[in-house]
Amino acid sequence: MLKKFFSFYKPHKRLFIIDFSSAVFVAILELAFPVAVQWFIDDLLPTGNWATIVRVSIVLLFVYIISTVLQYVVSYLGHKLGINIETDMRQKLFNHVQRQSFRFFDNTKTGHIMSRITNDLFDIGELAHHGPEDLFIAIMTIIGAFTIMFNINPELAVIAIIMVPFLSIVATYGNIMMNKAWKNMYGKIADVNARVEDSVSGARVVQSFTNENFEISRFKEDNSQFRLAKLAAYKVMAGTHSSIYMMTRLVTLVVLVVGAWFSYQDYITSGELVSFILYVNVLIKPVDKITALLELYPKGMAGFKRFLELIEQEPEIVDKPNALQVQHLKGDISFDHVSFRYDDHQSVLKDINLSIQAGETVAFVGPSGAGKTTICSLIPRFYDVNEGAISIDGLNIQDLALHSLRSQIGIVQQDVFLFTGTIRENIAYGKRDATDEEIHSAAKKAHLESLIASLPDGYDTQIGERGLKLSGGQKQRLAIARMFLKNPPILILDEATSALDTETEKIIQQSLMELAENRTTLIIAHRLATIRDADRVIVVTEEGIAEDGSYNELVAKDGIFARLHNIQFQQI
Ligand code: ADP
Ligand code: MG
Repeated sequence: MLKKFFSFYKPHKRLFIIDFSSAVFVAILELAFPVAVQWFIDDLLPTGNWATIVRVSIVLLFVYIISTVLQYVVSYLGHKLGINIETDMRQKLFNHVQRQSFRFFDNTKTGHIMSRITNDLFDIGELAHHGPEDLFIAIMTIIGAFTIMFNINPELAVIAIIMVPFLSIVATYGNIMMNKAWKNMYGKIADVNARVEDSVSGARVVQSFTNENFEISRFKEDNSQFRLAKLAAYKVMAGTHSSIYMMTRLVTLVVLVVGAWFSYQDYITSGELVSFILYVNVLIKPVDKITALLELYPKGMAGFKRFLELIEQEPEIVDKPNALQVQHLKGDISFDHVSFRYDDHQSVLKDINLSIQAGETVAFVGPSGAGKTTICSLIPRFYDVNEGAISIDGLNIQDLALHSLRSQIGIVQQDVFLFTGTIRENIAYGKRDATDEEIHSAAKKAHLESLIASLPDGYDTQIGERGLKLSGGQKQRLAIARMFLKNPPILILDEATSALDTETEKIIQQSLMELAENRTTLIIAHRLATIRDADRVIVVTEEGIAEDGSYNELVAKDGIFARLHNIQFQQI
């Protein structure tokens, strides 16, 4: 896992090297400082040579200035490195989510995805910056300081070194506990996010059932779970921190007392004692750094683990190595012994055989849950068939490049998803390089013109959350305009007008019929009035395709369709 983590440094190698070497330099200066002080006190002061003392002070001043500049570099460039890595990871995660297949979105809560893209990576930048750098410098400083301390006075150095095993035990234990605690905390914040996402997107349902208090209490539960998890992590952290604090300060005290006695016995010089105590202080810094890492490492790694979990989930549906690029399909569709199930429990489609000619308009009717939407979702490969094959113009769709396959298919559904942005941008979603002329012509064909003309900002009117609210019918028109722009040879209308009132449906119906012209069109509809003009009607039941024929043939046949027809058109 560390190898994967370090692979993210590659694009920022230069930054890392500059930052790292500056940090090493700062550490060397800090290690050298007490030696200089000792020399100053023991050798320079007794000479009373003030000219030299002033000169030495000026040199020290320069060293401080250089050290300050380097500190700045370490702090700024180091954080830049961390942020760059965090940003790269976040982008990679987003790109990865974009590539996922439908089944992934069926099974993953939006809030959990959001949480991974935002919170989970919050601490990774800090870890990326401080991790390798601080660890290296801390170890270097500790080894350097002890070496010098042994040289100054071995007995005192032994006293100081006794703390090391104790520190390691506390540190290791603290690390294990914190690992668990942070991982748990990230899981809980993901739950909080998922709950917010659910109740906000479902706000209308919540309010219509007046379940606000229920939602509040559920959120309260998740929120307090999160609080407990975070609190537990901080408790472990506080324990580790304070134990380490106590040990390092205790050592300073012991060294001071023993050192004072040694000095009194003339066993060491006062310069040596001062220098020694300064080294104990030099040691405290890397110990503090390692302590901080003990917190940062599990925090960052917990996020990174969750990052990997997602990033290593390969998209289910991808291009074959030699996938065919297609551009202008005619639109012959055939299902050959197609079986499909969403999961292992229940098979949705069994041995479906179906052949649709290019340009034909075929209506699918049948009880809800029969599998009409599923049949249509298989054509753009939102899901792959379990058995059999679907082909378009005689080409198996699994041999085609996904992008080019989907560019040939347009889908209008019951709920139209509009993006935050202007009307123009929303229409142009159907063809992102569309010219203004094309957009206007599409809007005209979808009978959107008079609406747009009545708006003060016309095509630049903002829609969505903070803009214009469109009615169901207007949204459908916008979706139709998108389709005119996209101009695909295959069109799927999945209950596109089912949510509209009959009056609006009638008006939209005309635009849809214009859209369907010269394309292979699959219409799923409840109201039979909307499929009168279809060339063919296919009745889908849970057992499969039950009837297949022209509208009038099926009415005459006295089967399922005839019954549906009688219910809808004869007053019983
Ligand atoms: P229709 O469009 O005819 O109403 P669907 O094709 O939507 O029917 O659904 C057919 C069956 O597949 C239903 O039993 C439904 O519960 C199931 N189903 C639909 N979508 C999914 C999905 N994303 N994951 C699992 N099962 C699904
Ligand atoms: Mg459906």
